[in-house]
Amino acid sequence: MLDPHIIDCPYCGEPIEILIDRSVREQQYIEDCQVCCRPIMLGVSVEEDGTTQVRASGENDA
Ligand SMILES: [Zn+2]
Repeated sequence: MLDPHIIDCPYCGEPIEILIDRSVREQQYIEDCQVCCRPIMLGVSVEEDGTTQVRASGENDA
């Protein structure tokens, strides 16, 4: 089950829509910004109460 989620690109600040697979509790992956095409590191965790936490960071601020 994929849930759309909006994050802000850490580089250009534009809102980006990503799809989160909520069947995975913890995941980390890289998605290219749809606006500036730079790689955004995404850390996603799905909490027990069903809320989703998304951290978006640039490759230089780990
Ligand atoms: Zn961007």
